[in-house]
Amino acid sequence: MSDYYKVLGISKEASQEDIKKAYRKNAIKYHPDKNSGDPTAEKKFKEISEAYEVLSDEKKRQIYDQYGADAVNAGAGMGGAGAGGFSSMEEALRTFMGAFGGSQGGGGGGGMFDSFFGGGGGFEGQQDNGARQGASKKMQITIPFEEAVKGVEKEASITNYALCEKCDGSGAASSSAIKKCTRCHGSGQIHQSRGFFSMASVCSTCHGAGKTITDPCTECRGAGRLKKKQQVTIKIPAGIDNGMRLRLAGHGDAGEGGGPPGDLYVYVSVEPHHFFQRQGDDVFVELPIGFTEAALGCKKEIPTPLGETARVNIPEGTQTDKMLRVKGEGITNVHGQGKGDLLIKVIVETPVRLSDEQKEILKSFAALEKEQNSPRKKNFFEKIKSLFV
Ligand SMILES: [Zn+2]
Ligand SMILES: [Zn+2]
Repeated sequence: MSDYYKVLGISKEASQEDIKKAYRKNAIKYHPDKNSGDPTAEKKFKEISEAYEVLSDEKKRQIYDQYGADAVNAGAGMGGAGAGGFSSMEEALRTFMGAFGGSQGGGGGGGMFDSFFGGGGGFEGQQDNGARQGASKKMQITIPFEEAVKGVEKEASITNYALCEKCDGSGAASSSAIKKCTRCHGSGQIHQSRGFFSMASVCSTCHGAGKTITDPCTECRGAGRLKKKQQVTIKIPAGIDNGMRLRLAGHGDAGEGGGPPGDLYVYVSVEPHHFFQRQGDDVFVELPIGFTEAALGCKKEIPTPLGETARVNIPEGTQTDKMLRVKGEGITNVHGQGKGDLLIKVIVETPVRLSDEQKEILKSFAALEKEQNSPRKKNFFEKIKSLFV
């Protein structure tokens, strides 16, 4: 079992100030943005973040000192010792953000490290009253083309930290086990006088909550939340495209100390279709026709992405690669901005495997062919002639 004090290189008597300093020093050194792809640094970063998560919280620190890491991890907000994988890295990064401030909203990652080095940065992760927002989760879902066009509802099960029902998230065995913090007398703040000045800072004993728990809830061991499998219904709107992201507000981990829950981000992959090709809200399709159909004109029925049938009129003398547009038969815009079009590319197919009789008929047709029947051909050969004059 790892020793959180050793991991951070501090003594058992370390103050909150020392713990924060030690974590800060190590976090900068092992942050994944600085050690991309280095598994040793990644492991180290997770370890120190886990240690900091516990030791920076006097409530958890007490439990850890008394019962060890297993007792804390059973209920606390981390992936469990040695759980590994992406989710625990996310936990580690969230701890990092909570410790140093910086924006965590809006997803996309990116700017998080900048705001850290740029200094400033408000404490969105942890508010003054000890409330902390739950972690946001990510999941990936793959759906067939047809479902993306029509929209669909999917059921998924996710394992989240949910509020402990036994203690209603308070973390205490009973309401009498919640005691006013003796250090700050319940205000959550410590006032220090220096000469004429009085300064207020967040109480490090209760983390600004103003209270401490003398008898932790047996179900969640004081954490106020528990890992739970939950069913979520993901409503995928019609018109969603490959690579789009949905946000299910409040479906991440439950918050701590009365903080708001995190969100669930669903990344949607759409399988390609063997017939339709999507470009924005328009859908492309290739339509092969015979050369007599192209010459004489014809009518065709084409399936639309919504499973209906569009009737298209191919006019007399249609050339290969001609694009026909059927308005409004494309994909419903995912933001409700109308509908795309169905774009049909006509491919004129030269006949193959002709019978003797067909060849004879074509030969007599050729005898009747005039220059005006093939204007492009005529044009081309006139241009060539002019080259040699
Ligand atoms: Zn509980
Ligand atoms: Zn206090």
